[in-house]
Amino acid sequence: EPLITIKDIGRKYVIGTEIIHAIKSVSLTINKGEFVALMGPSGSGKSTLMNILGCLDTPTKGDYILNGINVSQMTENQLAEVRNSEIGFVFQTFNLLPRNSALDNVALPLVYAGVSKEQRQERARQTLENVGLGHRVDHRPNELSGGQRQRVAVARALINNPSIILADEPTGNLDTKTSIEIMGLIEDIHDKGNTIILVTHEEDIAQHAHRIVRMRDGLVENDYVNPNIQRVD
Ligand code: ADP
Ligand code: ADP
Repeated sequence: EPLITIKDIGRKYVIGTEIIHAIKSVSLTINKGEFVALMGPSGSGKSTLMNILGCLDTPTKGDYILNGINVSQMTENQLAEVRNSEIGFVFQTFNLLPRNSALDNVALPLVYAGVSKEQRQERARQTLENVGLGHRVDHRPNELSGGQRQRVAVARALINNPSIILADEPTGNLDTKTSIEIMGLIEDIHDKGNTIILVTHEEDIAQHAHRIVRMRDGLVENDYVNPNIQRVD
């Protein structure tokens, strides 16, 4: 059963008398456990599509069905609820709270989920261990390297067991060696059964994905299985 079904969605922006079709028409099916790279030139609609997939925005036409629920017509509050339970976000700029420890940053989504403090700390500690940061739980972001900060962000994305991990240029601020390490971590997470959608400009980064979707001018130009991935299934 597909995890994501989008049917002929569009997203237009109206600015004065001008209409911008950021997404003209996109249809996609993504199954549970897929690892998809979303590519395309600047302005092709990647961010707009990721915002819709992440329930930060809704399409102006068409339907988005996530885990069997049609989210295309939802209100802000309903979308926020779906986001908290279904989506884990990883950003280029990490987006960590600077004054909080790694542990508190990772535990934060559980505050909104109403989990007790003891449980939050226990789960955050375990999740930080799972991303290789068990020895850095009390450090603040500015006491961590870029790669370690991104590991904290990945742990925060994972802590609610979301249906989908959306990663927007997760290696965009990292050097090559650290980028490879973070992609290794994302592969491990995928191997555990998680569904991953990754936006990247970089071909080498996209090559970690099992499927590559290329956008151009608000349309899907190309959608194919990555021939360079050795399939184990
Ligand atoms: P990409 O992420 O591939 O660079 P975007 O989704 O950001 O593409 O943008 C697609 C098109 O939609 C571009 O022409 C962009 O200028 C326009 N666009 C994106 N967001 C907005 C917005 N909030 N208001 C108006 N136009 C927008
Ligand atoms: P990126 O391509 O790295 O996502 P952009 O520069 O395309 O960054 O967009 C940055 C922000 O500005 C996004 O939130 C996008 O929705 C918004 N945006 C992009 N183009 C426009 C536009 N023409 N008018 C208004 N907002 C825009």
